[in-house]
Amino acid sequence: MPSSSSRPVILTGDRTTGPLHLGHYVGSLRNRVTLQHTHEQYVLLADAQALTDNADDPAKVRRNVIEVALDYLAIGIDPELSTICVQSALLALAELTLLYLNFVSVARLERNPTIKDEIRMRGFGRDIPAGFLCYPAAQAADITAFKATVVPVGDDQVPIIEQTNELVRRLNRQIGHPLLPEARALISQTGRLPGVDGDAKMSKSQGNAVPLSASDSEIAAAVQRMYTDPNHLRASDPGQVEGNVVFIYLDAFDPDVEAVADLKAQYRRGGLGDMALKRRLTNILQATIAPIRERRAALGRDPDAIMDMLRTGAKRGRAITEQTKEEIITGLGLFRL
Ligand code: ATP
Ligand code: MG
Repeated sequence: MPSSSSRPVILTGDRTTGPLHLGHYVGSLRNRVTLQHTHEQYVLLADAQALTDNADDPAKVRRNVIEVALDYLAIGIDPELSTICVQSALLALAELTLLYLNFVSVARLERNPTIKDEIRMRGFGRDIPAGFLCYPAAQAADITAFKATVVPVGDDQVPIIEQTNELVRRLNRQIGHPLLPEARALISQTGRLPGVDGDAKMSKSQGNAVPLSASDSEIAAAVQRMYTDPNHLRASDPGQVEGNVVFIYLDAFDPDVEAVADLKAQYRRGGLGDMALKRRLTNILQATIAPIRERRAALGRDPDAIMDMLRTGAKRGRAITEQTKEEIITGLGLFRL
C-alpha cells in the first residue's frame, strides 16, 4: 500500500492516445509490475499531455483513459501496490507546469532531441501546438510533484528526464536548498521496440503497433507484415539477422534464449525459411497477449470498479502533489493569501 514509506518513489505513465501495445509491454510495463513491490509507485494516465497533439479529438483522449487503465490492471499493475492517477484530476500538476515554464527558454525546448523527432514524425511543420513544445516542462512538473527519483521509461524519453533535472537544479538554486530531488531514467533491457513496419519505434500514433488487446488473427496479420531480410528469398539462402524485425521481436519476447541463438545461426547459414520463423513468433506473441486480453475483457465488464479505483488514485495523488506545490511556492517566496 502506498504510504509515506522510505521506499524510493517512481513516477511513470502513458499518454491516453490509444490502448497500450507491445512496445509499452517491454519498454515499461514489465518493469512497473516488478518495481511496485519495492517502490512507492505512481502511474499517471496522461490525458492532459495527450491533448497537446490531439486538441481536435478530446473524445479519443477521454475514452482512452479507461482503455489504458484497463491495460494497466490486465498487465498486473495492482492498485493496492501502485497508485493510478488521472493527470487532469491533479490540478497542482497544471499549476506547476505554468510555474516551470518561466524557468526554461523556448530555445531549450526547441533543442530537445525527442521533441524535435516527434515534431518531425507528426508533420507539424511550423504549426506546433504550444502545449506540445512545452510538454517537457509538464513532465518535469509530474515527476517533481511526486518527488520521484526513478522514472521507468523507453529510451526515447531520456532527453526529457535530462531536461527535468536541469529544471530541478534551477528551481533548487532559486529556492536555496535541494527541495526537489533529481530523477533518473530506468531503461528496460529491450529499450525501444520497433514498429511492425520496421520503423524505429512502435507507437500508438503511427499505425504500426500491436495492442495488448489484439486478437489472435490480428497478431498473425501483424507478424505477416514484418520485414525480414529482403535478400532472403528462398529458405535455403543465407539470411541476415541484424536489423531483421522478426529476430528483434524474438529477442524481446521468446523466453527460450538458447533456441533463438540456434535459429539465428541456422538463418545465417541458410536453411530456415521466413514462414517458419514467423510462425514461431506468432505463437509466442499470441501466448503473451491472450491472458492479458482475457483479463482486460473481464475487467471491462465492471466500469464502476474502474471509476472507483480512479477516484481513490486521484485522492492519494492530490494529497501528495498539493503538498509539493505548497512547498515550492513557499520555497520560492511567492505571495500566498
Ligand atoms: P504516442 O504515439 O501517442 O506518443 P506512444 O506509443 O509513444 O504513444 P507514450 O504514451 O508516448 O506511447 O509512451 C509511454 C511510455 O512507453 C514511454 O515511457 C515510452 O518511452 C514507452 N514506449 C512507447 N513506445 C515504446 C516502444 N516502442 N518501445 C519501448 N518503449 C516504448
Ligand atoms: Mg509517445
